Amino acid sequence: MVHAQDTGDKLPSLWRKALAIAATGLMLGGPAMAAPDAALQAAAQKEQAAVIESLRQMVLIESGSTDLEGLAAMARLIETRLQALGFKTERHKGTTAPGADIVVGTMKGTGKRSVMLQAHMDTVYEKGILKTQPWKIDGNRVYGPGIADDKGGISVMLHGLKLLQDRGWKDFATLTVLVNADEEIGSLGSGELISRLADQHDVVLSFEPNGAKAVSPHEFVLLGAAGTARATLTVKGRASHSGAAPEMGRNAILEISHQMIQTRDIGKTVPGIIHNWTNVISNKATNQIPELATAIGDVRITVPGAEKTFESSMRARLAASKLIPDTETLFEFELRRPAFLAGPKGAALARRAQAIYKELDRELLTLPMTGGGTDAGYAGRSGKAAVLESMGLAGYGYHARDEYIEIDSIVPRLYLTARMLIELGKD
Ligand SMILES: [Zn+2]
Repeated sequence: MVHAQDTGDKLPSLWRKALAIAATGLMLGGPAMAAPDAALQAAAQKEQAAVIESLRQMVLIESGSTDLEGLAAMARLIETRLQALGFKTERHKGTTAPGADIVVGTMKGTGKRSVMLQAHMDTVYEKGILKTQPWKIDGNRVYGPGIADDKGGISVMLHGLKLLQDRGWKDFATLTVLVNADEEIGSLGSGELISRLADQHDVVLSFEPNGAKAVSPHEFVLLGAAGTARATLTVKGRASHSGAAPEMGRNAILEISHQMIQTRDIGKTVPGIIHNWTNVISNKATNQIPELATAIGDVRITVPGAEKTFESSMRARLAASKLIPDTETLFEFELRRPAFLAGPKGAALARRAQAIYKELDRELLTLPMTGGGTDAGYAGRSGKAAVLESMGLAGYGYHARDEYIEIDSIVPRLYLTARMLIELGKD
């Protein structure tokens, strides 16, 4: 697939990119302003309170990617909502551990085009997070773990569809809603289903979050996202009593530290790769020279194929030096989520979205690429469906602390979702 600008090596963060684009005015062609659908706009405004209530209900369900109980409660809530909208729902079991259910809703209409809407119900947070990061409304901000990523996306999807249901809109062949439960851990158990279903649709709209005003002057849609891979380093040393006979041991933690330090900048030397060591696991005993240590590295790929250079550079560097004699270092590299490249079909969708935002007299930015992975990569893998990402709410602090959404993004996002579906129905 052809794709665009900025797949360079030192990829700026999504946020800096948003600002850079705004500053240079680098946007897709400026569509003429048309009159808004006033009835839809008013309905979206009226729906805002219901969106906030849905957000509250979902935020109060903690649903970390391994929290099967919380994910089951989320699945029930989403399923009930979809059924109330007239969808037939089914569950698909995640094909890899922890195996939480994926909810899929389908509805048949009287039109020609098939559209899939997707979001995810899992969050990155540990159980108990609500104790330190509670639900809270403060001015234009609503706080809560997972509220932007991606409970805001689920809400926009469900309430956008509600606006269309209220109008009796049926201008589609098939409408599918997919909500998976393992996005934050790579979608290994749902990615194939996403790819398969996406291929049966003309268009896929993905509802990951947008940037809040703190980081982006306007809302945006996303046209590209990095693919992901995992680098795993394992060091085998030798266990020994750390007080009585430390000299008999071979310290796996010291060796893995050395290996992580000597390889920490390899990602920066390979264009199209972002690599960071993000996790270390070793033994729990404190009175033993550790015999085993594992380090996990998060790898993002913005230039397809760059991973081969990365892997060979990594292996060469690891072989270059050793700190602790008699230890053994193993390296494994596993490709995961495919990169998302919207291509010309996705860019055409983005122009449509910009025209719809113009009806509201709002700017809509287009981001060519981010280092964050997305399931839009699975949806667009074969290139059959046109895919657009970041239809969710404007928010901040996701995967961090004090995550929030901005209330004044709710109405434009509902309007965009409903108007986009109406426009697609006319094709
Ligand atoms: Zn997300």
